Amino acid sequence: MHHPPVTIQDKQFSIYLPERKILHSVEIVAARISHDYRGKQPLFLSVLNGSFMFASDLMKEMSIPCEISFIRLSSYEEMQSTGKVKEIIGLKEEIKGRHVVVVEDIVDTGHTIAGLLPQLQAKGPASVEVATLLIKPDSLQHNLSIKYPALSIANDFVVGYGLDYNGLGRNLRDIYKVM
Ligand code: 5GP
Ligand code: MG
Ligand code: MG
Repeated sequence: MHHPPVTIQDKQFSIYLPERKILHSVEIVAARISHDYRGKQPLFLSVLNGSFMFASDLMKEMSIPCEISFIRLSSYEEMQSTGKVKEIIGLKEEIKGRHVVVVEDIVDTGHTIAGLLPQLQAKGPASVEVATLLIKPDSLQHNLSIKYPALSIANDFVVGYGLDYNGLGRNLRDIYKVM
């Protein structure tokens, strides 16, 4: 299939990860999680907005009973300007005693996940692990164990399959990187 470059506002993007490669990686992660959580009925916590498409495909590939709920984190701008940790918005489920799998779009520096995990741990879950569509190992600044990364990428800015540039590009089936 041909993937011409995509223009979003002032930037041009070229094809990086085609849909079939993404979906293959998602299947592998889903199989690993299904194996590891047999009999545990995990609760996926999908971090909006970026992880919605990954969360959807991941759930469809799960072969064990599981639940999903959606959360948001307070804005990045706020965190940068105040140095505060992003706060969880919209967590309705009781996670005490549950096996939680956080579903993220991308782990870059790791600041977001490093701030989120202690907040979840404080609520007394049975376990917490992270499934992320993408990870940028060269950017990671925290000693985090990300148990379920679907794809490792170089330190490039990417869009598509849920990831945005200024709110745009989330609808792309494939992942593109900035040129
Ligand atoms: P971290 O806190 O790990 O540095 O970054 C996590 C957040 O930064 C992601 O959830 C995402 O919103 C944003 N981000 C980091 N790298 C990229 C990228 O390459 N593309 C897009 N669209 N967002 C990114
Ligand atoms: Mg995210
Ligand atoms: Mg974003």
